[in-house]
Amino acid sequence: MKIETVMEALIKNRYSVHCFSSGEEAADYLDRSLNGKVIGFGDSATMSHMKLYERLSAHNTVYDPNQSKDNDEFLEIAQKCLTTEVFLTSVNAMSETGELVNIDGTGNRIAGSLFGHEKVYFIISTNKIEPTLEKAVWRARNIAAPKNAMRYKLRTPCAVKGDRCYDCSSPDRICNALTIHMKKMNDIEDVEIVLINEELGF
Ligand code: SF4
Repeated sequence: MKIETVMEALIKNRYSVHCFSSGEEAADYLDRSLNGKVIGFGDSATMSHMKLYERLSAHNTVYDPNQSKDNDEFLEIAQKCLTTEVFLTSVNAMSETGELVNIDGTGNRIAGSLFGHEKVYFIISTNKIEPTLEKAVWRARNIAAPKNAMRYKLRTPCAVKGDRCYDCSSPDRICNALTIHMKKMNDIEDVEIVLINEELGF
């Protein structure tokens, strides 16, 4: 995979794109770019790894559902995230042809990525990139979702080993909606892809 080809595909899909060689460099860039903003977060292991909440909340108002103590607080913060100026999230997978794939259980991450903000950032490390859309969907379902279920110690069959999807009917199931961003949404002025040429998240 040539990163330049992926960047070209994303630009063709109407996204703005910046590429960095490490999570640290990307975090520095976001820290410089966002100041005095009201920002909402979608859940992301990559963003946690980059310590974006700690960095950005020092000089912005940041709502991050992952900072909540219980489910009620989670939902309260997640709702605020839907109408912030800026929304930051990641993806479960991306195709080399520039399609973004996300799976969600509650829906806050997907909802925030679709509408209601001046600007949305997708922070994507290159280990999420697959050659085709079909393989990206497979990755989201069989790699990202089971590993997320493991991360949250959910009572789902995939959370035992994080090995694959069992298409479960568990009450804890996190795969309730799957979105494919084919191109930039019309009413979000700018959707920026921050590509990171380093293995982060899953
Ligand atoms: S559908 Fe169930 S088993 Fe499959 S990844 Fe989602 S939570 Fe895990």
